[in-house]
Amino acid sequence: MYFAVISIFPEMFATIREFGITGRAVTQEQVTIECINPRDYTTDNYRRIDERPYGGGPGMVMMAEPLSKAIEDARLRASQHGCRMEAASCPVIYMSPQGQTLSEGSVVSMAEYDGMIILCGRYEGIDERLLSQYVDVEVSLGDYVLSGGELPAMVLMDSVIRRLPDIIGDDKSAEQDSFVDGLLDCPHYTKPHNFAGLAVPEVLLSGHHANIAKWRFSQQVVRTQTRRPDLWQAFTPTAQQAKWLKALAKSKSLNS
Ligand code: SAM
Repeated sequence: MYFAVISIFPEMFATIREFGITGRAVTQEQVTIECINPRDYTTDNYRRIDERPYGGGPGMVMMAEPLSKAIEDARLRASQHGCRMEAASCPVIYMSPQGQTLSEGSVVSMAEYDGMIILCGRYEGIDERLLSQYVDVEVSLGDYVLSGGELPAMVLMDSVIRRLPDIIGDDKSAEQDSFVDGLLDCPHYTKPHNFAGLAVPEVLLSGHHANIAKWRFSQQVVRTQTRRPDLWQAFTPTAQQAKWLKALAKSKSLNS
């Protein structure tokens, strides 16, 4: 998958290009992450990309012209990397607190793209005319304001890259994560057997795979019910999960 990130701080992306699962995906050429600095498309000696807002007021606004040239260049590079040039295959995404909030569902859909061109704002944001002409979708991390779009862009790329095929060593591990089947993940334990006077739940040492799966599911249910009742309300169990839920309800009524 191809990513072009348009940012005045390209150095920040060493974090995602060089470390962990995303770093390995870059090294193994499963993904390409190119950074494009809008300052490289300016024509003045100061390489200026921001100006005061029309109408007055505090802060600066990123200018449309260098960003439009950066996006055109990003599109060219994306097509050279084999991306089909339509919004459904390689959209221009603006990281913005005013966008749709990122969710696991939208991440899974975005993992189907050939690539994406991600625009990182700074200051008060970007000239509205650039956004209306070039941006296909605005994506937010949540209802709070950060000082720039670089961290949100890295969050978006990380979440999408880990959902690509053959990226995570054990493919099943992403399937068991929170939100994937509509529930929160179960608790995890590793060595030592005892820590701070707390033992690992016996069932996990039993080697009985069916009992372990059932226990893990019961933990997912309790966690989701207590921490995220909104998710629990929307949850539709599989046939196997419905059987487990019935058994859990029965054992609860026997114990009460
Ligand atoms: N004036 C803008 C507003 O209130 O909508 C906020 C500008 S913010 C200081 C600068 C940049 O950070 C934005 O252009 C955007 O790229 C990025 N940003 C800030 N908060 C974000 C969030 N919650 N999600 C995604 N990007 C965000």
